[in-house]
Amino acid sequence: MQHNFAENKSELKFTLEAMTKCAADCAGCGLPPEVKARQNFWTPEQLQKVSKFINLYVQVMKEKINLSQVNITLGQGDFFQLKEKEVRSVMDFLNYIEHKHLSTFITASAITNYEFMKKSVDFFHGLSIENQKALLVEIVLDSSKLMDDRMNALYKKNISYIVEKFGLIEFAINVGEDTLKNITPKSLHDFMLENSLPFIAVNSIVSKYNQEQMKNSWTGIIDWLKGVVEHNQQNYNVEFSTLFTRKLDINQSYVSSLQNDLYKISDLLRREIFISHDGDIAFQQNGLGAVGLSSRNGFSDLMNIFNSEFDLDDIRRVVDKYSVTVSKKIFSEFTKHDSCAECQYRPICHTSAIAPLISTLANEKDMDSSCPVGIKSLIEKIETNKNFYHGKGLIYAQKDFASQSLCIDDLEAIKYKNCNENIDLGVFKAN
Ligand code: SF4
Repeated sequence: MQHNFAENKSELKFTLEAMTKCAADCAGCGLPPEVKARQNFWTPEQLQKVSKFINLYVQVMKEKINLSQVNITLGQGDFFQLKEKEVRSVMDFLNYIEHKHLSTFITASAITNYEFMKKSVDFFHGLSIENQKALLVEIVLDSSKLMDDRMNALYKKNISYIVEKFGLIEFAINVGEDTLKNITPKSLHDFMLENSLPFIAVNSIVSKYNQEQMKNSWTGIIDWLKGVVEHNQQNYNVEFSTLFTRKLDINQSYVSSLQNDLYKISDLLRREIFISHDGDIAFQQNGLGAVGLSSRNGFSDLMNIFNSEFDLDDIRRVVDKYSVTVSKKIFSEFTKHDSCAECQYRPICHTSAIAPLISTLANEKDMDSSCPVGIKSLIEKIETNKNFYHGKGLIYAQKDFASQSLCIDDLEAIKYKNCNENIDLGVFKAN
């Protein structure tokens, strides 16, 4: 039986490593140090190539699925540090995307001087109104600064101004060895409650650039993540849990077979694309953060759009051929470990960015005899903690564009809806 649970999903996601300047300094950051050191933003020419790629990709996928939503995350640095002419080029880029239901996230650090940030937020906000482009802001919290009294006060002031201008914002924390020293799961929990924050994305990205450091602290990171699960008593959403838990639900009716597994993996892969700062294209999965399956973590980049010309046939090759090739590579990572062979969570792991963790972290001798990357105990913790909240409905919109609100029902399926009747921007709304 071909299991088609993914066919109801109708959005495409593009994660763009467009901006590399950021005042935060997280060990669990997905940016390679050499790329972060450039501290720059894509040129107008590069943005034009990216928009051309997205438009062609959308065109190809419209032949395959009933596409309703295109979701673009402009990351990974601090967009409120862009120069004014660069902000204009962001708007030109968004205007060039040919899909009417477009949701755009921009990342920020909220660490800069208040007056500087306020001016930048005002400029971004003004241009978004002028161009009729709603922006959803994601603040990445730096754990070292979160626990510093002076920085904590600046965070609060900056965040409250961004909320005043844009409405509800999303929070994220990159977990690495520094997080274990800087903040306990209880302190993060208290910060969420004190500030009435509705949502936090918990990321821990491992690549060849940080694998040695992450290997040494991985057991501690898994314990830290379990602590996050333990403390949350239905107070707010934690993104990694929602992804796993939703897939656990799916798992109950899912019949695993080689054909079903490969189909499921490739069908989800082609709906998410990562574009590196150098223009390398990779498929993306979500687990402990959004992870591009690229040359940074044991996979291969699919093509480069900055150094070569491309057309519809090249995109069709990515969608039809490479999605199957990469699925097989993902599948094969799990066959290398006896503990995965009989594991009930394997269908979840196939689609939750665990394969790049295996390729970067797993030793010949498994770090945990029951799981090559120790993730099993985290999934069990999520599954057994009945008070851990997931699946709350969340309404996102830039305040000025309430009629174009995004309703995030389960945080994996982002849908456009008309939320006018019950919209309460800036306030968490439970289902
Ligand atoms: S939870 Fe661990 S053992 Fe189970 S499939 Fe995933 S990686 Fe393998």
